[in-house]
Amino acid sequence: MTPQPPAELLIRAAAVHTLVPGEPPRRAIAVTDGRVTALSPAPDGLDALIGPDTEVVDAPGSAVLPAFDDTHTHLVLAAHSVHGVPVHRARDLAGFLALIRERAARTPAGEWIQTTINWQEVLLAEQRMPTTEELDAATADHPVLVRRGAYNMVLNSAALRLAGITDASEAPPGGVIERDERGRLTGRLINRAVEPVERVLPSPTLAERIDGLRAASADYAATGIGTVRDCLVPVEDLDVLDAARAEGALAVRVRALVSGFAARTPDQVDALLDRMDAWRADGRDDDRLRLWGVKFGIDGGFEAGALEEPYQGQPCYHGRLLWEPDELLEAVDRVVRRGWRVGVHAWGDRGLRVLLDVFEQVLKRHPGLAPGTLVVEHGGLARPDQRARAVALGIPVTVQHPLLHDGALAQQRAWGEERTAALFPLREWLDEGALLTGGSDFPVGPYGAMVSVWGMTTRGTTAGVVGPEHRIDRAEAVALHTVNAARLTGEDTVRGSLRPGAFADLTVWPLDPLDCPVDALRDLLPTRTVVDGRTVQRS
Ligand SMILES: [Zn+2]
Repeated sequence: MTPQPPAELLIRAAAVHTLVPGEPPRRAIAVTDGRVTALSPAPDGLDALIGPDTEVVDAPGSAVLPAFDDTHTHLVLAAHSVHGVPVHRARDLAGFLALIRERAARTPAGEWIQTTINWQEVLLAEQRMPTTEELDAATADHPVLVRRGAYNMVLNSAALRLAGITDASEAPPGGVIERDERGRLTGRLINRAVEPVERVLPSPTLAERIDGLRAASADYAATGIGTVRDCLVPVEDLDVLDAARAEGALAVRVRALVSGFAARTPDQVDALLDRMDAWRADGRDDDRLRLWGVKFGIDGGFEAGALEEPYQGQPCYHGRLLWEPDELLEAVDRVVRRGWRVGVHAWGDRGLRVLLDVFEQVLKRHPGLAPGTLVVEHGGLARPDQRARAVALGIPVTVQHPLLHDGALAQQRAWGEERTAALFPLREWLDEGALLTGGSDFPVGPYGAMVSVWGMTTRGTTAGVVGPEHRIDRAEAVALHTVNAARLTGEDTVRGSLRPGAFADLTVWPLDPLDCPVDALRDLLPTRTVVDGRTVQRS
């Protein structure tokens, strides 16, 4: 045997949970050149690998786990708003408006002021968005854009003026320009009505975009996440991610799903795939940044998910299907024929039923399709027969407890308590043999390794415990973000568990997440996150 080279990083801990099936916890782990090189059951068992340049971390009370994947999130969106006014920290409108006033005081007059997008108005004491008048009172000298998610905005008067929106403006199809009972603008714009605003917003420079990705990816890493599967990357933003990678600005690995939301016709789908094929032909994939496939959506979210039974209090409203099944079938077919994978957003039970019909047709046309090519994103309201079909078809499902955590109040309003409690039936999915992976859907839900584990094991939400019969145990919840996640991206030989030769993507925790008191998980942060052998965050 040739002697091993000295370790670059050696960690001694109370427990190193490798997540290799059947393997008891280890006490020491060594890392060299971005890979795990050795593990030992004894804390001092790897001391022979200590050289003059080895960083030795003695953490006798700590536990080590693989770094987590967030398998459905939106890093690119997060990067856009990471420097926005942090209104997600406000608990009421007074606090919300004070944050805007504070930012205005140190921003040159005339410059846009924009907020972060990861907040919910139902979590403010007043349970509503601010109005144009309130924003005008905060500042009349700046255009102000209050944004929640991608498709909800409130503007102050200066911003409405710049966007050319007046009392006489008509919303584009599929958009809403909200008005009060007297017909005046409230400042609120929904869905496609946000487009005129996007056209007048100053576009950030490439350097600003890279800076946003640097900050946002570091924020993910600070919560124990080492890989994000970004489920909505505009195809032109691949170049921005590429530039960020080249500058070493991506603290986490990125697996990108290119947005197919604007591709409706076969020609548009082909044009998207041409650009993806060019990326592949140029050999631009590497272990840090990989193109995973295409993202489509078959229905809306809390307010427009396609349901079998009508919405609460709206007997004629069942949400919306965004595709004719035949058209979606053709689109998915084109994607898989070129060797790409597809994730489709399906939120309501009707949306999921129609999607499974489509996936079944695709699998009939392509009987040899590699497992994991077709993925259900969310599957929120999956019914028993739908779960059985998805499992029988071998279709993985990405689930996001944080959507229930932050969204429960809004969902109860839209769907009633019973259906909200039935969201994300994780216990059933796992018992029935589904490949499930965990994510956040940030900016709609909060991300973070252990807040997700806490949520899946308690079913805790902002509306209290919801549907406790669907909870899973801690080891299962951890697997959804590690072992299972790596299977989803086809990387389970090198990621998701800590074995010699695997990527050195790991996290160090001040308490053992597998057996600390459950409520400690909610705010538990790692003391260190290591990606590719390099410490990207430490506290
Ligand atoms: Zn999403």
